[in-house]
Amino acid sequence: MSPDMTLAKPTPAFYDPADFDRYVMKTYGRFPIALTHGEGCRVWDAQEKEYLDFVAGIATCTLGHAHPRLIEAVNQQIQTLHHVSNLYYIPPQGALAQWLVEHSCGDRAFFCNSGAEANEGAIKLARKYAHTVRGIENPTIITAKASFHGRTLATITATGQPKYQKNFNPLVPGFVYSPYNDIDALEATIEELDAQTPQVAAILLEALQGEGGVRPGDAAFFQRVRQLCDEKGILLILDEVQVGVGRTGKIWGYENLGIEPDIFTSAKGLGGGIPIGAMVCKSGCDVFEPGDHASTFGGNPFACGVALSVCQMLDEPGFLENVRERGEQLGQGLEAIARQFPDSVVDVRGWGLIRGLEIKQDLELTSIMVVKAAMESGLLLVPAGPKVVRFVPPLIVSQGEIDRALEILTGALSSLV
Ligand SMILES: *Cc1c(COP(=O)(O)O)cnc(C)c1O
Repeated sequence: MSPDMTLAKPTPAFYDPADFDRYVMKTYGRFPIALTHGEGCRVWDAQEKEYLDFVAGIATCTLGHAHPRLIEAVNQQIQTLHHVSNLYYIPPQGALAQWLVEHSCGDRAFFCNSGAEANEGAIKLARKYAHTVRGIENPTIITAKASFHGRTLATITATGQPKYQKNFNPLVPGFVYSPYNDIDALEATIEELDAQTPQVAAILLEALQGEGGVRPGDAAFFQRVRQLCDEKGILLILDEVQVGVGRTGKIWGYENLGIEPDIFTSAKGLGGGIPIGAMVCKSGCDVFEPGDHASTFGGNPFACGVALSVCQMLDEPGFLENVRERGEQLGQGLEAIARQFPDSVVDVRGWGLIRGLEIKQDLELTSIMVVKAAMESGLLLVPAGPKVVRFVPPLIVSQGEIDRALEILTGALSSLV
């Protein structure tokens, strides 16, 4: 194959929603633009309109678009070895696992391709632990209301939001929900489940609920959960898919809560946009044996080599500091906007570079309306539910870009209220 061989250009170009929808299943509500290229925190659509990207593939493009380190890692790995089976030892997989273990409370990692799949792995591990270590015949996992854990059958069941489950029953047995950040309710739920014989295998929580409306975990709640788990032998699983890998200004979301989970999952930001998921656990609950769990693509040299280069960027001097400083700047800017629009904005919350702005419930104004108005003016944002606008820019975002985003948002809100 000659290196200058060009790829055939598809016809039509699929910039037009009608062309696209003819061939692709309509599982997504899409905005009517087609993004064709990007650089740093900016992306361009097919009409060459420029946008400031505060979605970043939903908290995924850690290093933004076309980052030189990402390009270098992709090139290097694709030219060396991009895929082999887990029938063999895979050095980049070992190196990424080492990075994860050395930068977390975990001891061992399993790799897969997405957040849902990482959570599936955690659910299986917790169930096997319950069966083999604690002798629980019908293990139950408690998750939070308003949570989000993915779109596979087990993870929509784990997700404490009926809208994701509607029409997909029968769901997977063994999940019970309790309100987030509510320790009394959780204790009551455990007591009820464990009344006859121990049944609660694990508690699965997000350190900050992302899809559920950018709701940070309460440190006192999580510390009490940790205590309860220790007392009863229950595993604490943290879903770090959205907040892990530096997004909150710390490498893991749980570091904001003063606790350590037994198992945690990662995906979105881990590969900087290259698909990869990971489940990390402490050695004490690593009950998997050969044959228990697997994934064809999971941990392949390509995904792991690229993810390692993304992770190594977090170790660069000033990288996490930038997340904290820009996060602070964004948070303060949103607070100022809340003060400027007191009749529309009720709350601003989040950690680091995951922030949410909540619109008053009784207003006609919705998060989608704000997102659309901002998009018109060249800023990409994503809703987190009907009333919360979410801000999750690449972690390399600059001071000037945050200023510009706040300026566009102010204009968009002024045009709406
Ligand atoms: C996005 C997300 C998931 C699902 O990840 P996929 O890669 O889409 O499967 C799971 N948990 C949380 C907290 C998420 O934000």
